[in-house]
Amino acid sequence: MIVLGIETSCDECSAAVVKDGREILSNVIATQIELHKPYQGVVPELASRLHTEWISQVVKAAIMQAGLTNKDLDAVAVTNRPGLLGSLLVGVNFAKGFAASLNIPILGVDHIRAHLYASQIENPLEYPYLGVLVSGGHTVICKVNGYDDVDVLGTTIDDAIGEAFDKVAKFYDLGYPGGVVIDRLSKSGDPMAFLFPGPTLDRGEHPYDMSYSGLKTGVINQLDKFRNNNAPATKENIAASFQRAAVGILMKRVKAALKDTGLKRVSAGGGVAANSLLRSELKELEKGGYTVTFPSLKLCTDNGAMIAGLGYRYLKDGWKDDDKLTAYSRVAAFKKSYP
Ligand code: ATP
Ligand code: MG
Ligand code: FE
Repeated sequence: MIVLGIETSCDECSAAVVKDGREILSNVIATQIELHKPYQGVVPELASRLHTEWISQVVKAAIMQAGLTNKDLDAVAVTNRPGLLGSLLVGVNFAKGFAASLNIPILGVDHIRAHLYASQIENPLEYPYLGVLVSGGHTVICKVNGYDDVDVLGTTIDDAIGEAFDKVAKFYDLGYPGGVVIDRLSKSGDPMAFLFPGPTLDRGEHPYDMSYSGLKTGVINQLDKFRNNNAPATKENIAASFQRAAVGILMKRVKAALKDTGLKRVSAGGGVAANSLLRSELKELEKGGYTVTFPSLKLCTDNGAMIAGLGYRYLKDGWKDDDKLTAYSRVAAFKKSYP
């Protein structure tokens, strides 16, 4: 079964063709990064306008690169939530027209669920497992019981981890997008140059919750307070120290959740799952007998393949949407997709 996946929730205009949910025949990602760079962040109006200009070419390229024609497609899966409303609407409406013209089913897919599912395309992991969803807008530790069955164990109570990377990079003018630059600069910095503390959260009711706004404020406004042994405030040292602290906050809760739930498998997803320190710290867990997976770098950030992959699962279980499918900018994280 061949599924076309379309993703336009933010600043990536992407389309992919995936066979039987596993075989990625193409995964075209047209990123708008360069066009938003002057503003150091995604400008919603610009994003949706560029999607309208690019979408048909991107879809055409994905089908061509897969070596197929429109007639070979069995279904269209499209991100319909959450994200920038204008951007989502471009993808959803294009997908609706495209599916209708070919008389094939359409499926709306939750972007966050798809990030978490991405690793399953390349390295299927037996359910249940501990899910670590770390992206530009989300930070969630959860128990994943199935592709559409997720229990949230903890979330950030303020900023998302990716947002913290982006804001620190923006403040220190490190480059755009922030996560990638901080990851790179950290390699030549001292992670102990600044000793930023973790958040002091009430461990009672929500023991796996996280906070990133305190760390962000510390890095931006209180460098001197956390300076270790007169370490110089170079970009590299700031980046490495921030990255160590950001990953540390997450890993502390991941380890506690693994211990408490008794889960033996872990999988991460989302843009921050591309972070080299997080990947190596998660991999370290294998020494303790855990099985750890994450998506390849291209499947961490926004892409159509994860949408097609998850769409295939719904389709196989008999779910689909109709022409009433629409876009939602916000949804409760991991509300069940189909009844
Ligand atoms: P969401 O998925 O929550 O709607 P989004 O789609 O904007 O948000 P993603 O595409 O999953 O987010 O990821 C983008 C985020 O990942 C950005 O915050 C970016 O800085 C971060 N990121 C990308 N690569 C890395 C990296 N190597 N290290 C740390 N962060 C990274
Ligand atoms: Mg993006
Ligand atoms: Fe995303």
